Amino acid sequence: MKVDSLFFESFPSSETDQIKGEAEVTINKLGSKMDCVVRFNGSAVLPCDRCLGDVQITLTFDEFLVVQLGESTSTEEEIWTLGPECHELDLSQPIFEWMHLHLPSRRLHASVDQCDPAMTAYLDKNRTISAEPQRSSEDEGTDENNEIDPRWNALKHLK
Ligand SMILES: [Zn+2]
Repeated sequence: MKVDSLFFESFPSSETDQIKGEAEVTINKLGSKMDCVVRFNGSAVLPCDRCLGDVQITLTFDEFLVVQLGESTSTEEEIWTLGPECHELDLSQPIFEWMHLHLPSRRLHASVDQCDPAMTAYLDKNRTISAEPQRSSEDEGTDENNEIDPRWNALKHLK
């Protein structure tokens, strides 16, 4: 099963459609149950946390799904049940969910050198501006300390 941008057309809610790869599905039949083993090998393109530029991330995982035959079709439970009317097993929904589950939470270029320097500088500047109110209250704190110090010195002189 191929995963490309076409695959994502059926999932408009996706965080990214920039995942490409191959999902290899192996089905092991055990009596009335089937073990569907999905091995995914591919990559995802996501915005870098530091510079928002595109980063290509390797995405590989192994997952499995247990499917059993039953009276009616149900794919809500952890174990899927396929009714007699079901002749095809569509794994695109679980594969879609697994791909997102396995996306790393931190997406960064391998080194800062690979980041877009203009963008990093711009973002850093904005971070500094938004952090300034906190910083100024810290400054007030140090000012108070500075005020206390002369008083202590004055007390020392009184002794
Ligand atoms: Zn970057």
